[in-house]
Amino acid sequence: MREHRTPTAPTAKVLVVEDEPSLRSMTSGALIEEGGFQVIEAKSADEALEILNTRDDIACVFTDVRMPGRLNGVDLTRHVRERFPTLPVIMTSGNLHPSEMLADVPFMTKPYDLQELSRAIRKMIDRLGPESD
Ligand SMILES: [Mg+2]
Repeated sequence: MREHRTPTAPTAKVLVVEDEPSLRSMTSGALIEEGGFQVIEAKSADEALEILNTRDDIACVFTDVRMPGRLNGVDLTRHVRERFPTLPVIMTSGNLHPSEMLADVPFMTKPYDLQELSRAIRKMIDRLGPESD
């Protein structure tokens, strides 16, 4: 049995936005098993935005940048910051142009470490969560 600290928000839902199916499922699996999160998956930024517009239970967005569709991950992040300013976003890419970096948005270079990602997400969610003590 694996040891991990008890999450303060055990059912926190993470929206994983990644167009590469194997990376998407590997990331989701790790966030569920190691991080104790629930995961909602999207294969494009367009699909992610649709999900965000129709539900209000997403606690964090982890998005790739290069994806097919109308929007890329940077566009998605800008939309989120404008429309859901309290929703934390982490971006990832293997080739982000410096001009695409957004202030105050954590960025993880591919290939990212899944445990590190899990910790980063937990930290962002905990920072915003209600103080229970
Ligand atoms: Mg991609």
